[in-house]
Amino acid sequence: MNPLCQRARSSCGACCGIYNRGDHREEAIRSRLDARTDALSGVPRTPEAFRTAAGRIAASEPPSLFPSVRVCPLLGWLDPGRTRVGCLAHPAATGGVDLRDQGVYDASICETFLCPSHSWLSEEEAEIVDATCADAHLYGLVVTDVPFVRAVLDAVGRLSGARIERRHLDRPPVREALRRLFALKEELEPGSEGLFGAFQPGADGEPVPRSIDYAAIEREGSPWDAILLCVGADPRSGNDLDRLEGEVRGRLTACARATGSPGGPAAS
Ligand code: SF4
Ligand code: SF4
Repeated sequence: MNPLCQRARSSCGACCGIYNRGDHREEAIRSRLDARTDALSGVPRTPEAFRTAAGRIAASEPPSLFPSVRVCPLLGWLDPGRTRVGCLAHPAATGGVDLRDQGVYDASICETFLCPSHSWLSEEEAEIVDATCADAHLYGLVVTDVPFVRAVLDAVGRLSGARIERRHLDRPPVREALRRLFALKEELEPGSEGLFGAFQPGADGEPVPRSIDYAAIEREGSPWDAILLCVGADPRSGNDLDRLEGEVRGRLTACARATGSPGGPAAS
């Protein structure tokens, strides 16, 4: 599999803490990445200068939501157009010197860490997520939650009669409808399970099942339980289960329709 961190159309900074702020909306994250990129642009490529700059940036930002998830001030924009998020201390970004020891981990951890999606997401699924999100915000929320990707694709397949494949996304209406479904991840309350509880491997390496306590809110289960679970549609996460269920139903129907249901995705 190609690395998930930098794909053809998308990039991810989830493990560098990009979403771990009270305000994780795209505009807020973009302006934070803008400020970091600007602050680091004129800094000499030395450990001392980067350490000082990293400390200054960190002090200028709001506190993290979860102190246990580190937020690295060296994550910024890699390209002049500011479309691709990535590590500004990486040798490829600095012009040769490795300055990742000045971040919140050290260079050896940054170099070797791969999130669980790397071993769990299939190449076809990764391509679907990349082609559908094609950005530096939604992509990271989705690609790190394999159960969510599978739950969405399974549900669309059940409704339309055939599973969405990568080639179907060459049709803009299908791509846009699937993006609307994935974009549920951008509409959650801060601290939601859907943002931070994506994957918890058990002793066997498989994900630990999560569950919504429907009885506690005096409700029957939902036919879209797998998706609702992944977006944290649980009062404990601060999200409104009924509202999210309505959104899931509507967006799934629209997506199945865009694929050409009944009869499944039209051949591209
Ligand atoms: S969360 Fe995973 S895909 Fe995203 S940057 Fe980290 S290792 Fe890469
Ligand atoms: S130094 Fe490490 S934690 Fe910081 S942005 Fe780079 S890769 Fe992420």
